[in-house]
Amino acid sequence: MKALTFQAEGVVKVTDVPKPGIKGAGEALVKVTLGAVCGSDLHILHGHTPINQGAVLGHEFVGVVEDVGAEVKRFKPGDRVVSSFFTSCGHCALCRKGWFNQCVDKATFGHGEYFGDLGGGQAEYVVVPLADHSMEPIPAGMTDEQAIFVGDILATGFFGAERAEIRPGDVVAVVGAGPVGLMATMCAQLFGPARIYVVDMVDSRLETAQELGGIPINASLVHPVEAIQGHTGGIGADSSIECVGLLSAVDTAIQSVRGGGTISMVGVPSAVIGDFPYLTMWMKSLTFRAGWCNVQAYMRPLLDLIAAGRIKPDAIISHRMRLEEAEEAYRLFDAREATKIVLKP
Ligand SMILES: [Zn+2]
Ligand SMILES: [Zn+2]
Repeated sequence: MKALTFQAEGVVKVTDVPKPGIKGAGEALVKVTLGAVCGSDLHILHGHTPINQGAVLGHEFVGVVEDVGAEVKRFKPGDRVVSSFFTSCGHCALCRKGWFNQCVDKATFGHGEYFGDLGGGQAEYVVVPLADHSMEPIPAGMTDEQAIFVGDILATGFFGAERAEIRPGDVVAVVGAGPVGLMATMCAQLFGPARIYVVDMVDSRLETAQELGGIPINASLVHPVEAIQGHTGGIGADSSIECVGLLSAVDTAIQSVRGGGTISMVGVPSAVIGDFPYLTMWMKSLTFRAGWCNVQAYMRPLLDLIAAGRIKPDAIISHRMRLEEAEEAYRLFDAREATKIVLKP
């Protein structure tokens, strides 16, 4: 089958690899009908994520179940499914506490041997272990483009917004208008804020943020913290959602909120360690939350919100390309010439 594989730092390639098959009783073989390119794929491309040569890439995908192991109860061949970008068992101590992203059996798609040695979704087929707990059926009438982001960036945007503790009438600052920031802008509105300021430096992304209900702040033209303070009588936002991961963006997210406010960080940190403003956090009684999304807890409610027309995540898709064009897709996304790219095998 065709699959996008990691070759070396800066080099990914569409190659022929063996079609995977079911080995475990809890697995499902999924024929991928749509994949997507994610910001984490660029971390891999640039060598910031350890990965073996030849690993199949891609962790955002939807497809049709082709085969299931004997213990799979929720799915049968022919079912349309969306998968989380990682697997979870549903019954270990941490899954029972509801923290599926801390599952002892967790493995990540499209990240090679060091993250559980799963296949990837930028391919024609992928095997999903722990299928009953890692996938959700796509409701009838919902398109692949509507459903695909439930397994990663949409859930992450919702997770960021939920943990920002937004109350009706609040002012929210979203730092970063990449795909996750745009999803956070969309999801924050479910909590009833009066205004959402969205900070970025790329005009096209800020325009999309505005179309989704955000108020754009171009950080290459104005100081974002001063701008947010200027719009809030010098106080600052009630909460911020950090969606970049650069430590400078985290600083912006912290400085943008008022005393007693909440910072919710979902961007992948650009450094292992850095300065943290302990005194400011203490003086201003701030709440700081960080973490990567507990996807499995959100897939079902998000699919229901999409089905009800309350959120339209497919609005951020800027490019529809073929799997064969994946190398060019990575180049476009890396150059920020694309907001979000989906790939059809
Ligand atoms: Zn991702
Ligand atoms: Zn578990």
